[in-house]
Amino acid sequence: RTVYVNGEYLPENEAKVSIFDRAFLMADGVYEVTSVLDGKLIDFAGHANRLARSLSELDIPTPPEFDDLLEIHRKLVAENGVNEGMVYLQITRGAPGDRDFAFPPKDTRPTVVLFTQNKPGLADNPQAKVGIKVISIEDIRWGRRDIKTVQLLYPSMGKMMAKKAGCDDAWLVEDGFVTEGTSNNTYIVKGGKIITRNLSNDILHGITRAAVLKFAKEAQMEVEERPFTIEEAKQADEAFFTSASAFVMPVVEIDGAAIGGGKVGSVAPRLREIYLEESRKAAV
Ligand code: PMP
Repeated sequence: RTVYVNGEYLPENEAKVSIFDRAFLMADGVYEVTSVLDGKLIDFAGHANRLARSLSELDIPTPPEFDDLLEIHRKLVAENGVNEGMVYLQITRGAPGDRDFAFPPKDTRPTVVLFTQNKPGLADNPQAKVGIKVISIEDIRWGRRDIKTVQLLYPSMGKMMAKKAGCDDAWLVEDGFVTEGTSNNTYIVKGGKIITRNLSNDILHGITRAAVLKFAKEAQMEVEERPFTIEEAKQADEAFFTSASAFVMPVVEIDGAAIGGGKVGSVAPRLREIYLEESRKAAV
């Protein structure tokens, strides 16, 4: 694969970043994952905007120009022949000469890395037909989950706890309410109404979430943005999650309790279909 590092396109085994990079030492960096369908980028503008916001919230200087980023994404997709898959982008505070808790001088060059992943069958994922199982675990992450940092140890541990329990993912719970999944936004459906946690610093403002809620409202579906509990989720007609890499994914079991009789309902598949159709049309 060809990857991008700080202005250069290189074979992946020739790409290098410093051991002093602040993301390597301190998780001082942000990232984005943009899906590719039919060789085109899904919701690139949404991801570029969130990236700029994450960088600005962390005071990482000089975000790359929108057009330059788009060109790098497109070039890698073409070069690596990605038809279905994703582009991973990471920008860190860079690599000053030494380790220090204080931020380095403003003229330290941020590290910019991009690579692609081929995922044939991304849109036709068979899991979306049967749904996935989740466990709930306590949300012990930091308080700025709206910033998409590379600080992913707890989500990664949550994923492993889920796997150990024979499940696919974990839903995180804080003060009795579900915040989000390890790497996705969470929803329940009750009496036709779609319920998902409102935006705040407690969750990542999902790009897929924004798109799906917009499409749901356009399709005259009722949407309520508020926190919900695991107990409420267990009583729901349906549950699902959204993310850039999984789109809309039905959830049919939470902590061993079947949701909607353990079968995929009608709302999640419908939203998945609308999302895929509309996003393909708008892809760049
Ligand atoms: N929440 C978290 C914690 C995530 O990591 C992600 C995916 N990166 C999401 C939500 C979903 O966001 P998006 O739809 O932009 O992929």
